[in-house]
Amino acid sequence: MLPVIESVLHDHDLRIVLLAAVICVFGTVSTLNVSSRAAGTRRPLLWLLLVSICAGSTVWATHFIAMLAYMKSMPMTYAPGLTALSFVTGVAVMGFGFGLAIRGSRSQWSRALGGGILGLGVVCLHYLGMAALRLPGHLTFAPTLVAASIAFSIGFGVLALFIAFGPARPHARLAGVVLMVLMIVTLHFTAMGAVHIGHGQTYANAGGVSRVVLIAAVAIASLSILLIGMAGALVDQKVSLRLAAEAERFRALADGAFEGLVVHRNGQVVDANAAARRMFSLGDNLASQSIHNWFGGSQVGAYASAQTEGEAAEFTLRRPDGSTFPAEVCRRRMLLTDGTQGELLAIRDLTARKESDARIAHLALHDPLTELPNRRFFMELAHKAVALAHRTGDGFALLALDFDDFKLVNDLHGHLAGDELLRIAAKRITATLRDADVSTRFGGDEFAILQTHAAGPKGTIALVERLLEALQAPVQIGGVEISISVSIGVALYPDDGDTVEDLLRNSDTAMYRAKADGKATCRFFESHMDAALVARRKLEHGLRRAVAEDRLTIAYQPIVDSDCRTPLAFEALVRWTDPELGVVAPRDFIPVAEETGLIVQIGEFVIRRACIDAMTWPEPLRVAVNLSAVQFKRKGLVDTVRLALAESGLPGDRLELEVTETLLMENRDDALRQLNQLKELGVRIAMDDFGTGYSSLSYLQCFPFDKIKIDRAFVMDLPNNTQNASIVRAVAAMGKSLQMRVVAEGVETDLQADMLKGLDCDELQGYLIARPMDPSLIKGFLAGYVEIVLA
Ligand code: C2E
Ligand code: CA
Ligand code: CA
Repeated sequence: MLPVIESVLHDHDLRIVLLAAVICVFGTVSTLNVSSRAAGTRRPLLWLLLVSICAGSTVWATHFIAMLAYMKSMPMTYAPGLTALSFVTGVAVMGFGFGLAIRGSRSQWSRALGGGILGLGVVCLHYLGMAALRLPGHLTFAPTLVAASIAFSIGFGVLALFIAFGPARPHARLAGVVLMVLMIVTLHFTAMGAVHIGHGQTYANAGGVSRVVLIAAVAIASLSILLIGMAGALVDQKVSLRLAAEAERFRALADGAFEGLVVHRNGQVVDANAAARRMFSLGDNLASQSIHNWFGGSQVGAYASAQTEGEAAEFTLRRPDGSTFPAEVCRRRMLLTDGTQGELLAIRDLTARKESDARIAHLALHDPLTELPNRRFFMELAHKAVALAHRTGDGFALLALDFDDFKLVNDLHGHLAGDELLRIAAKRITATLRDADVSTRFGGDEFAILQTHAAGPKGTIALVERLLEALQAPVQIGGVEISISVSIGVALYPDDGDTVEDLLRNSDTAMYRAKADGKATCRFFESHMDAALVARRKLEHGLRRAVAEDRLTIAYQPIVDSDCRTPLAFEALVRWTDPELGVVAPRDFIPVAEETGLIVQIGEFVIRRACIDAMTWPEPLRVAVNLSAVQFKRKGLVDTVRLALAESGLPGDRLELEVTETLLMENRDDALRQLNQLKELGVRIAMDDFGTGYSSLSYLQCFPFDKIKIDRAFVMDLPNNTQNASIVRAVAAMGKSLQMRVVAEGVETDLQADMLKGLDCDELQGYLIARPMDPSLIKGFLAGYVEIVLA
């Protein structure tokens, strides 16, 4: 070492050595800078050439400037051929070394070998440059120092490229620069320390390159270093601008991402996109954030171990305010910009999805209108209850609920009011039940209740009473008070069936029984109900079809003057012959038609048909049409009548409408309003079946009826029943006083006819005069009748 230091200190002009050092450092930085660009460019060979020239120029310039500093006083020249050769060889060998290291940068052997060749290139350049030296004296070399110089050069070369082109690590480039500078400097000065100059013999100045030329050459070399370095810097700037733009684009992309993206190193947050910042209310100081706070103590372990890379797993994450949210987290290792290992977390907030999942699950199992369990859910629960009851021997009850005349609510108040009523009803039902009981809406106004742990009928009766009372209370909808009643049917497990299906069917049967028994009540299932129900269903089905297929007909029964027996009117009586059931009597199907609302269509048909038929009869024969109270509850009855008259051309005073007192028993005001409107059409109104119902005289006084029809029941056992005779007489007298005509129905014998005439009845109707007849027979009947009267 000593000769080397001695040589540097004594043999060199240190100011020029400093210049050499500056050129060396600058050149090395440029070389490595340009070499890093050579990898992955479109023209790698051009870049490699630039690297080689840059490296060659650096070493060469360093060498010759250092040589200028060496024994400044000694007259030295250089052989031009060898000088050029030293440069070219150095450039070629070093270029080869760089090429190998850049191309095979993934393999440490290629990098080491390339580095070794680089060092060798420096050796070639130096010693060929020394060989070009001409000076007055004889040069000898100390072999150990020469060997050391070669070893230094190759050794530092290996290290330099091994690190500079190795995996990205912080300060790798700087280390590469330092090692390359060491490679060049140690070689040069160790080699110079090995030189000993003997005097006299070999100095041959002639034809050598002078100092001035050499300085010019060095200046050119330095300039080329400068230019290449600038080119590298320019490209560097362009590339970093592009990288910055790219990073900006990535940032925008990441910020636009729906997911939270977080980069962390050992749990310490390094970067986070906008979504993640929002998710965890992160401020600017990301570094103070730890992902462990989000995962919560107990989950960190699970987070670290359970999840493999790239696989999503669910966690409950905690926000800084302590609230939590469900999230899906996907993790991926990544190399951070400073070369250290980090991890990217993609965090998806599952709150909305979980909520919509829950909502969908709720929708799938509940009735959207009432929020009660739907049929599917109810059946599931009922099946479970049966299974449990099988095991424990506990009883339970199934209740079928159906609102009475619910359709009327829809018709009168609109569907929205109907829906609102159902919602209120559902709330009332729920409030009546215990927690373990379940209710459902099957659709329309049909509800069912599963009463668990029903200890015999007693508990169920109590529940039914509560239900009837709760549901009967009037409700206010849109400022209108609506009252509605409900019919309930009950089936008990195990007496009335041991499957859910049987129990449902039987509770339904019992419910229909409750309806048939006057509604607003409850019936427990009894086995005989089944048959009656089946028959009723058949009837309803057949009637529906008959109406749809227009198969109903009308028979007409004459009403005659009690004095001279002249026909005054015909009563229209609907007839139905079913292909399966045969002839069905009105007293059997009219109640069904009223219950199902079919009566509206039937009534409309009868009025229109009757008016048309009456137009074919001689004036002033009238037609009498029966109206059901249900028809008054629906809107449009007055219009129907008006239209039937207009269509047929029948004058209003040839139409009689027969109503019963039930019409006036409920909704009297509304009924009276409609009766008055009908009267304004010129139509006559008759009180039918008088004496059967409550027979309240007040009904007769509250509306100016044109006619009273005394019910058949009072006529039937005349003349023997004196009590009936006096009732008929009283009614007839009252009718007279109220200026109403009195008609007796069901007159079958001459005796009855005579007696009724004597009791002051104005008109007679019954089999004695004629049975209800087909309209085609009326003409013949009228002809024959006139003949009889005339005879
Ligand atoms: P109603 O209005 O009292 O009609 C008279 C009923 O008595 C008719 O029975 C008729 O056939 C029967 N009848 C007439 N004369 C005699 C007789 O001398 N002896 C006996 N035993 N019966 C006699 P129908 O046709 O079976 O009608 C029964 C009830 O059905 C009617 O009673 C009426 O309330 C209802 N009805 C019939 N057609 C219609 C209709 O088009 N609309 C409405 N709303 N109800 C109708
Ligand atoms: Ca009648
Ligand atoms: Ca009658």
